[in-house]
Amino acid sequence: MADIAPDPTPTDYPPRVSDARPDPRPTPLAPATVAVTAGRPPRVQGGPVNPAVVLSSTYVSAGVPGPGELVYARSGTETWRDLEAALGALEGSTRPALVFASGMAAIAAALALVPRGGRVVAPRHAYQVTLGLLAELASLGDLQVDLVDIADTDAVAAALVTAPDRGAAALLWVESPTNPMLEVADTPALVAAAHAAGALVVVDNTFATPLVARPLAHGADVVVHSVTKYLAGHSDVVLGAALSDDEALHTRLLDHRTVHGAIAGPWEAWLALRGLRTVALRVERAQANAAELARRLATHPCVAEVRHPSLPDDPGHERAARLMTGFGAIVAIRPVGGPAAADAVVAAVRLWLPATSLGGVESSLERRRRFSTESAGVPEDLLRLSVGIEDVEDLWADLDAALRGAGAPRRDAAD
Ligand SMILES: *Cc1c(COP(=O)(O)O)cnc(C)c1O
Repeated sequence: MADIAPDPTPTDYPPRVSDARPDPRPTPLAPATVAVTAGRPPRVQGGPVNPAVVLSSTYVSAGVPGPGELVYARSGTETWRDLEAALGALEGSTRPALVFASGMAAIAAALALVPRGGRVVAPRHAYQVTLGLLAELASLGDLQVDLVDIADTDAVAAALVTAPDRGAAALLWVESPTNPMLEVADTPALVAAAHAAGALVVVDNTFATPLVARPLAHGADVVVHSVTKYLAGHSDVVLGAALSDDEALHTRLLDHRTVHGAIAGPWEAWLALRGLRTVALRVERAQANAAELARRLATHPCVAEVRHPSLPDDPGHERAARLMTGFGAIVAIRPVGGPAAADAVVAAVRLWLPATSLGGVESSLERRRRFSTESAGVPEDLLRLSVGIEDVEDLWADLDAALRGAGAPRRDAAD
C-alpha cells in the first residue's frame, strides 16, 4: 500500500461529532487554502476525497452512549461534520461551527443566549428579519431592544451603559457592513465597550464572510452566518451557522439546536461544502467587480448616491481598510428620480437578476423598501446590488443602460 502523508489541516478537526472539542492548534494555512482543504475525509488509500451524504435518522446504539457518539440525527450527523469543521477553521475558531436550517435559525439560537427580559443593543439598519425577530421577542416581553447607529461607536458605547431608566445590556448585536446601508462597525472597539458593560457580542458576518473579516479574532463571542449567501454561493441552498470559541456558549447553541430542531438536511450541508470550496475565488472576483462598478457609478449622471466601503470618500472606507481584508461585494445606490426610477432600473435590467438574497455567483438587485418590513430608515429609492462574478464590462453595460433608461440625468454631472 502506498505511503500517504496526512492532511495539511488536522484530519480530526473536529472529531466525529459537532459537540466534541477539535484540535486546538491554530491552522497555519491561509483562508483561501483552508476553504479548499478543511473538512475533507481522512486521506486513506482508496478513500473518497469528499464526504458522503448519509441519509440516516438514527444510528446503531445500545446502552449508555459514549461521549460524542452518534445516536440520533437531530443531535449530530457525520454529514454536517465536515462542513462544520471547514466553517470553524475558516473563522479561525478552535471549535467547529454549528450548522442550522437557515441563517435565521442560527440567529434565533444566538438571541436565545439573552436571559429573559435582558436588553439587546442592535443596529437600526440590519437584516430586516433579524430586526423583525427582535421586535417580536420584545413585544412578547422576552427581551428589550435598543436600536443604534452601529457605525457610531460612541452612541453604541452609551447605549451599552446601564442608566437609571434602563438595565444592564445583555447582548450587543453587530452587523458589518450592515444590510442594506453598508455602515461599517469598529468591531474591536465595540467588543471592548460591550465586554466592559458585561454584554456578550454576536456578529452577523454574512456580508463580509470569513475571507474579509474574522470577528472572533476581534473578540466577538459568537459569529452567525447565513450560509445561504456567499459561503454556499450558488443560490441553491438555505442554511445557517453559528460559531463560538467559548465552550459554554458553544454548548448552549448546540443544545438550542437540538431541542428546537432547526437542523440542516444532509443534501444542504453537502451542497454548502461543495460551494464553499470556491468561496475565496468567488469573493475575490465579486469584490473586484463591486469596487469597479462603485467607482463608475460614483460619477454616473443617473445615480444620486453610491455606498460601497471601497470608495475613498465612503464613511466606512477608513474603518474597512483597517479592519477588513476587502470591501465586500454589496453596493447600494440611489438612482436619480426616486423610487419610480429605482423600480424602472429593476424592470429594465437584462443580465442582472431582479431578486432578493445575495452572495450568489449571479449579480442581482432589488429595491429594499418594496418590502413593508424593511427598516423605515432605509431610503425608499435604495437599490441593493449583489455583485456576482460575471464579466464586469457585461455587468456595467446592462446596469448603465438600465439607469439611463430609468430617470432624469443628474444636472451637475459631466457626462
Ligand atoms: C440573508 C441574511 C440572513 C438570514 O439568513 P437565511 O439563511 O435567509 O435565514 C441573516 N443575516 C444577513 C446579513 C442576511 O443577509
